This record gives sequence, structure tokens and C-alpha cells, in this order.
Amino acid sequence: MRTLPHFINGEEVNLSDEKHAQIFCPNTGTVQAQVPLGTHATLESAVAAAREAQMAWAATNPQRRARVMFNFKALVEANKDRLAKLLSSEHGKVFSDAQGDIQRGLEVIEFACGIPHALKGEYTEGAGPGIDVYSMRQPLGVVAGITPFNFPAMIPMWMFGVAIACGNAFILKPSERDPSVPVELAKLMIEAGLPPGLLNVVHGDKEIVGCILDHPDIKAVSFVGSSDIAHAVYERGARAGKRVQAMGGAKNHGIIMPDADLNQVVKDLVGAAFGSAGERCMALPVVVPVGEDTANALREKLIAAMKQIVVAPSDDPKADYGPVVTAQHKARISHYIDLAIKEGAELVYDGSKHTIPGNTDGYFIGPTFFDKVTASMQSYQEEIFGPVLQMVRANSFNEALQLASEHQYGNGVAIYTRNGHAAREFARRVNVGMVGINVPIPVPVAYHTFGGWKRSSFGDTNQHGMEGVKFWTKVKTITQRWPDGTDNDNNAFDIPTMG
Ligand code: NAD
Repeated sequence: MRTLPHFINGEEVNLSDEKHAQIFCPNTGTVQAQVPLGTHATLESAVAAAREAQMAWAATNPQRRARVMFNFKALVEANKDRLAKLLSSEHGKVFSDAQGDIQRGLEVIEFACGIPHALKGEYTEGAGPGIDVYSMRQPLGVVAGITPFNFPAMIPMWMFGVAIACGNAFILKPSERDPSVPVELAKLMIEAGLPPGLLNVVHGDKEIVGCILDHPDIKAVSFVGSSDIAHAVYERGARAGKRVQAMGGAKNHGIIMPDADLNQVVKDLVGAAFGSAGERCMALPVVVPVGEDTANALREKLIAAMKQIVVAPSDDPKADYGPVVTAQHKARISHYIDLAIKEGAELVYDGSKHTIPGNTDGYFIGPTFFDKVTASMQSYQEEIFGPVLQMVRANSFNEALQLASEHQYGNGVAIYTRNGHAAREFARRVNVGMVGINVPIPVPVAYHTFGGWKRSSFGDTNQHGMEGVKFWTKVKTITQRWPDGTDNDNNAFDIPTMG
């Protein structure tokens, strides 16, 4: 059986004394490879390699660092189909969606190609007599990223693209469920000209995550995953004195105003609710039509559209979406479907028994749709992360706004309307971090920034864009005075002022 290596100091590393976890094929339910579960010793060798390489990299001029990113972009593009196929085989998302996962990551690499501009700093000439003030952004040193299963290419690239371009050395701990593509990306970075030791991939579970969070030489940790773990990671890393950003779960609402174009809504909603089997933190698993007429019309159109959805193995070109990632995740989604039924939601369209002849052990769940869901239901309050759409009917704009604003998660939200004033008010007032106006999955472009609010994010800086640059650097401010010999009127015992 194929055993995935760690990737440390520019080389594949297999250590004999580690335990392993299985990597499944979600289409068939069979084991296709195994991944080592790294220990403290694994991390130590990665940290040593990173420490050794980082200072020279920080001293390399930013334009040269950017050139590695340009080379890497070209290499990933040349290998895109191979990577997408590998990604799809472990995650279960269809090939075209796997290509999108890689492409969205590459867009952050494109942003990182412009790092000389982002690191220019600020300068004030003449802040006082003979005094100039300037600031510079310097790398933190050795930093780390811990990533979830659902975007095994994009999220690692969000993190290491910006961190390495800023002059840091990076240790990536990818999800143990689909860890192959991150190793391939690290190899391509070396091929692109990155010196060994600056991007290391260590595999493992919570044991190695704990070692990362406690390690005194790791100065910052970026985490993306589920909220309870994100919160625990945030607390433990902060206690160890690190800079931590920890993105968590989501339950994004789509508000449908009575004047919305329902045909467009349905087209967008089926993709946003069921695409990638609902395993996106920016999926739209909750739809909130405003008014009974809107709800009834939307319900009928949705049912008709759902009948057209093709659920099939991820390598079937006809598939709209494939299996979910693991048997455990399928069981978790089924649990929520049962719970919603018990809580009294109306099961309008049941995909829970969906099977595929020839692939009966694959982790498939058909599209599932509940109406008459209420805010007090546990199945509404918690993240399901599967192809399950819940409709909560609202009587007014304010009621819909309140639902999204009061939910424990605040990652993304969308409003569909033709009324500019309603859209503007919604965007201004809603208590959520990323807003779409007639856009179902408002994932911001790479040169803006990604991050939710409330229990969707702990820590205070977002991913990529200038927020990412801020996270991966520390600012130093220099006040310099070159006196001409005549301005000695300050009392040296008082705090200097510019008065
Ligand atoms: P997860 O929380 O199970 O795992 C995320 C990472 O944490 C993995 O690398 C895993 O190995 C590690 N981990 C698992 N258990 C741990 C523990 N007890 N202690 C420390 N580390 C642990 O998440 P997942 O199932 O891989 O990914 C899906 C989740 O990620 C969903 O909740 C989704 O909403 C969220 N997500 C959020 C965003 C965002 O930007 N907010 C983006 C993508 C995914």
C-alpha cells in the first residue's frame, strides 16, 4: 500500500516508528493509502530545517522571493490536471471543482507575486525638526498552518503563499484525510526554486497539532477547521504566546426578498447548497425566503431543480457532485437528517437513502431539502456540512436579517433582491463577515481578505490580502533624527513631543 511521506528540508521523509491513519477512496469506501501520524520528533526535524533556512530567506530581497512564486504558479498550472485528479480521488469532489480548488489557491499565489509592493512600508518625512519616521514589515520566523479536508489545495496556498513570500519558513500540517496534494505542492515549490527547509509538510492528528501549538520556536499559527477545535487551538496557541488566527465552522444564510429573480436564485442555490456535497465553509445550507408567496414559489422551483442533480462518483464527468469525504462524515450528516425529522422539520426531498449501483460502499448522500425549519431547532443551529438545505420562512426583511445576525456562526451570508436600498441596508447591518449581494458564495478575491465573524473565526486578522501580510509579519517603526546642530531646545527629561 502507498505510504505518504512527510516532506522535510526539501525531501520525502519516512520514519519507521510512527503510527498511520488510512486514506479512503470516498467513491468506493476502500483504503487507498496510509498517512503517517507525526510525533514531537517529526516536528522537531521540521522546525530545525525551517530555523536553519529562514534567516537567509528573510535577507533575500522581496523581488527574488516573488520570482519563486511566479515559477510556482507556472508549475502548478502545468500540473493542474494531475493535481486535480489526485485531489478528487481523496476528497470526493468532482474534477472540475477540484480544478477550482487549485485555481482559487493560485489566485493567492498571484497576490504573493506582488509581495514587494505589499511590504513597502510607510514613511513620514519631517515629522519633527530633522526627524523622519518610517515603518517596515519583517517576517516572524518559523510559522505554521493547520488545514481542513475540504480545500486541500486552496487553504494551504492561502497560508504558505503569503507567509513564505513575506520571508517566513513554513510548516504545514494538512488534513490527514486528503494529505497528498499538499505534499505535491511542497515539491513544486522546491522545483520553483524555494530553498529546502522553507516549506515542510508534517502529517498527523491532534498530537502533532498540540506539539505545533506548544513549540517555542513557532511564532504564529494559522488554523482552519471546525469551531470547537479552532477555539481550542486559539486558546492553546495564545497561551504559548503565539500569534493565532483560527477560522471555524459556518452556517451561511441566503435571504430571498420577494422581488428577487427566483430563476436565478434557484440556479445559484442548487450549486451553493449541494456543490462539493455541501462541504464548503461558504456553502449556503440555509435559505430564508421573505413572505409566504416567495417561500411557496421558491419551494416548487427548488424541487424541480433538485430532480436534475446528478450524484455520481467523482470521476464521472456527468456528476454534479460526488461522495462526502469519509464514512464518519456520512454518518454525521445522516444523524442531522434524522434529528431534523425528529424536531418536526418537513422533509420535502430525501436524499439520505441515495445509493449508486456498483458503488454501494461509497459515501454518497443525495440532495436533501427541509422546509418549515425554525430557529430553535438544533439541526438549524449546528453546522451539518453536507448536501442538506434547510428553509426557514421569514415574514419580513428585519426578521431575516435578525436570523442571520443572531446565528452563532457568521462566516458568509447572501441576499437576493433587485432593491439597491434593501441590499445596502442588509450589507451594512448584518452581523456576518462576508456578504454576497446576488452572489451565492461570496468568497472574496485574493487581494481582498477572507474571514468570518462570531464562532466562525477566533483571532483578529483574516486570510490573504493585506490582512494576511499583517498576520505573517511584524511591524517595526523607526524614528530617526539627523539634527543640524541648532535644535537643542528640548528638556531631555520630558517625554519628547511634536508640539
Ligand atoms: P477539523 O476541525 O476536523 O480538522 C481541521 C484540522 O484540525 C485538521 O488538520 C485536523 O487534523 C486537525 N484536528 C482534528 N482534530 C483535532 C483536535 N482535537 N485537536 C487539534 N487539531 C485537530 O475540520 P475538517 O473536518 O477537516 O474541516 C471541516 C471544517 O472546517 C468545517 O467545520 C468547515 O466549516 C471548516 N472550514 C472553515 C473555513 C473557514 O475559513 N472558516 C474554511 C474551510 C473549512
